[in-house]
Amino acid sequence: SEAPTITLNNGVVMPQLGFGVWQVPDNEAAEAVSRALEAGYRSIDTAAVYENEVGTGKALAASGLPREELFVTTKVWNSEQGHNSTLRAFDASLDRLALDYVDLYLIHWPMPMFDTYVDTWRALEKLYADGRVRAIGVSNFKPAHLRRLAEETSVVPALNQVELHPALQQGELRAYHSEHSITTEAWSPLGQGKDVLADPVIGRIAERYGRTPAQVILRWHLQLGNVVIPKSVTPSRIRENIDVFDFELDEDDMAAVAGLDSGTRLGPDPDEMD
Ligand code: NAD
Repeated sequence: SEAPTITLNNGVVMPQLGFGVWQVPDNEAAEAVSRALEAGYRSIDTAAVYENEVGTGKALAASGLPREELFVTTKVWNSEQGHNSTLRAFDASLDRLALDYVDLYLIHWPMPMFDTYVDTWRALEKLYADGRVRAIGVSNFKPAHLRRLAEETSVVPALNQVELHPALQQGELRAYHSEHSITTEAWSPLGQGKDVLADPVIGRIAERYGRTPAQVILRWHLQLGNVVIPKSVTPSRIRENIDVFDFELDEDDMAAVAGLDSGTRLGPDPDEMD
């Protein structure tokens, strides 16, 4: 299967479904990423703090796929925020990935208590201007953080990667994104495989389509326009999660999933993360 694409606000084209590798140990990452590439994934989401950029890079190289067919995202970790430290962190990530550019570079968390995300963003603007990254974006930014970037910097983030799943639908943030041409990317799109996958509403829809709960949730994201990066190290699930382009939820099903929004975070509130 080949994922549909979305076009970012700078014209760069990105697969709407990719493979996330959080919590995959470096010595298992090459295997998992190789399985994903075989299954048809072309977008990989890693981060310096995941400590698996080396394994990820090995799988990218071993795949023999042309670089321009791959879409690689990595992120600057909180402890490296600030202008020069971000530039150094970017070089270190490229080295570990064994790449000479990444497709998308993100600020991992705003860390407003550090008050460095504006300087960090200016470093990303420089990397973008220097052609070392095809697009720049943020992660875990709330509207207030995005507004501050809009007031004090020049490049609008291409994308904001945030916790988003049926139990946390991020209505306010998604509205801000669409007003400002920022793509919404959902992390933990399956709610980390916890409660949301076992929800009876999702289960009934899945049964009706002859699909799995994970496939129904991913379909819901895609139909909302979200970019998704589900994670699995199980080959059958890796394949299952990309086999979602040949069916469509109807309006009633979309409304039923909309009804599951309880505002429940699995991760920290970005304003309180420390
Ligand atoms: P996810 O929602 O993708 O869930 C993954 C878990 O769900 C798996 O470990 C497995 O237990 C289960 N699962 C996966 N496929 C399944 C299937 N088909 N059937 C049943 N169970 C299945 O959670 P995630 O890994 O937290 O998020 C995905 C990616 O998002 C991460 O790997 C990472 O790349 C990114 N992420 C980013 C941030 C951030 O701060 N920017 C935070 C968390 C995650």
